[in-house]
Parts: sequence; structure tokens; C-alpha cells
Amino acid sequence: MPARDRFDRPLRSLRISVTDRCNLRCQYCMPEEEYVWLPRRDILTFEEIGALVDAFTAAGADRVRLTGGEPLLRKDLPDLIQRLANKPAVRDLALTTNGMLLADQAGGLRDAGLHRLTVSLDTLRADRFRELTRFDGVAAVQRGLDSARTAGFTDLKIDTVVIRGVNDDELVDLLAYGRQAGAEVRFIEYMDVGGATRWSVKDVLSRAEMLRMIGAALGPVAAIEEESSAPADRFRLPDGQTFGIISSTTEPFCRSCDRSRLTADGLWFRCLYAREGTDLRGPLRAGASRAELTRMIGEIWTARTDRGAEVRLATGNREPFIPVETLQKKPHLEMHTRGG
Ligand code: SAM
Ligand code: SF4
Ligand code: SF4
Repeated sequence: MPARDRFDRPLRSLRISVTDRCNLRCQYCMPEEEYVWLPRRDILTFEEIGALVDAFTAAGADRVRLTGGEPLLRKDLPDLIQRLANKPAVRDLALTTNGMLLADQAGGLRDAGLHRLTVSLDTLRADRFRELTRFDGVAAVQRGLDSARTAGFTDLKIDTVVIRGVNDDELVDLLAYGRQAGAEVRFIEYMDVGGATRWSVKDVLSRAEMLRMIGAALGPVAAIEEESSAPADRFRLPDGQTFGIISSTTEPFCRSCDRSRLTADGLWFRCLYAREGTDLRGPLRAGASRAELTRMIGEIWTARTDRGAEVRLATGNREPFIPVETLQKKPHLEMHTRGG
């Protein structure tokens, strides 16, 4: 039985950041010129990640998503995937990537036993991609998606952060591309998480606005009723195509949140907005047993009361969440460090 927190939410889904490095600089995530990186000696080895996953699964977690930073930058990543895929308690093993290196790696990820892939892609236009990320890459990401499908990933997703006045004119084009690429598109409301230092409430395109725009172009949109703790609400278009919307900013879903995050150096955060995490690397390297780690994880989860996005919405404070000076002193508050 999974541990349950104060709001009766089970410990289920663990997102593991395998590196804080990234080969893009998305303006909603890493807009600054300089970053403070985690010391290399602190980065968990694959053996250490495996040991922590064993402790988490014993406390109830059964879904693992690898993320970053950009996870495909982590050397020998398929070795970690194989290690995790061999654990029967990990029922779902997924990865979120910006897709830049996917064309060469998709086959290896699949062979290693990865179940599902999500590729982030915010625009189909080369010039806009460069403005948004500071690099050229649309073609590389599209090649990556093609390779993923060829490699046998059937449950492909495309995650798109929608920003007003930046890419809100591409919703329909992205849906058309998703259909052709064999991937379900999920539109994500722009969030004021750590890292989003240029965030402004006026740049947020709400779920309601997205639905209106898509409906006006493609016909009536039907909500799909399903019992799920997944963050995306799903919808169906008249032609049968499905898509999702993750409305973390205007209609947060904290009440069903079973997710927590482990940074590449072993700090465990129970909420995307949490200011403090728990160091698991220390006890692990000091020789804590799996049972001790599981007990620690279970006790901490049992006391969890986080519902960061709901609190942000309720307080009405719509400044960027963490000022850049604080982020420079506490890089664990960055989205690219704690893993989106
Ligand atoms: N680098 C990989 C990628 O981009 O897919 C994995 C890590 S990234 C932090 C994970 C997800 O967080 C991406 O889909 C990204 O779009 C999302 N993200 C980052 N900053 C965000 C923000 N301010 N609002 C909403 N989503 C954000
Ligand atoms: Fe973009 Fe992901 Fe890198 Fe952040 S971590 S800058 S979202 S590619
Ligand atoms: Fe979960 Fe925190 Fe996100 Fe709410 S804000 S859905 S509690 S991670």
C-alpha cells in the first residue's frame, strides 16, 4: 500500500532528474545568461538512483519519469533505463526530452526497456524555435519524433508550453503535426515556477481560451471523462483526434497530485513549488539501508501538505515565483534542476 499524505494522496509518481545541464535555453525555463551548476561529485550514480528507486517503490511509488535538464545529455542513459526497467515494482517508465538528441538515441532507449516518451516542442517554425530556445532545432526534434515512432514508441506525447503572443497562433498547426507524427499533443499553461523569471500573468493563455480557439477552428471539442491522477485533462475533436491541456496555472490539480521529484544530486521535493527538499544522497552515501530510506520517505510523505499551484492561485500573487538573485543562490529552486 502506498504511503498517503495529509490529504490522502498516495505516493505514486517519481520524477528523477538525471542532469541539471541542458542543450537549450527556453525563455520560460532558462532565460538567464549564467547558471550555477550542481557539483559533479554530488550527482547520483546509476547504482545510487537504483537504490533510491528501490526505497521509493517499497514506500509505494510505481511510476518513474526521467527528466532534467535534458536527460539525453546524461552519458550512458540506456544503462540506467535498463536497470530501472528490470525492476518489476516500476510499472511505468517514461522520459521527457526536448528531442534534440532523440533521432540517434530513440532505438537505444527502446531497446533498454523505456515504456513511454514525451517530447517537448513549442513551435513548428524554425525562426520562432530559435527565438524561444536560442538554438536551431525544429528539424532535429521532428527527426527525433520520427525515430521514436519507428523504434516502436506507440504512446508518444508532445508537450507544448503555450505563451500568449509567442506561439498561441500554432495550436491548430501543432495538432495537425501531432496527428501526422502519431503523438498526442498536450498544451501546458505557462507556469510561474522557479526559472520562469520573465513570467507575467498577461502571457498566460488559459485552458478556457485554448479550448475556445481550438473549437472555433476545428469544431466542437468534447471532454473525455476519465478517472486519472494525470495532470492533463483530455479532449476529443470531431474527427476523433484527442489532445490534452495541463492547466496548472488557472485550474490547478493539486488535490490529486501523487508526484514528487528527485534532483540529480538526490534532493527530494514533494511539490514543484516547494522551497525546501530532503537530502537523500547524504543518508544513502552514509550507508542507510533500504528499509531505513523507505521508512524516512514514508514518514515524510505522510506529513505532506503541499499544494503549491493552488496556493499561488489563491494568494493572487502573480509576480514570478522566485527572484533571479535567489535562484542564483539556490539552484535547486530552478525548474531545470528539480526536473519538470
Ligand atoms: N529538457 C526536457 C524537456 O524540455 O522536455 C525535460 C525537462 S523540462 C524542465 C520538462 C518540461 O517542463 C518541459 O516540457 C517544459 O516545457 C516544461 N516547463 C519548463 N518551464 C515551464 C514553465 N515555466 N511553464 C510550463 N512548463 C514549463
Ligand atoms: Fe527547455 Fe527543458 Fe532545457 Fe528547460 S530543461 S531549457 S524546458 S529544454
Ligand atoms: Fe503537485 Fe505541487 Fe504541482 Fe500542486 S503544485 S500539482 S501539489 S507538484
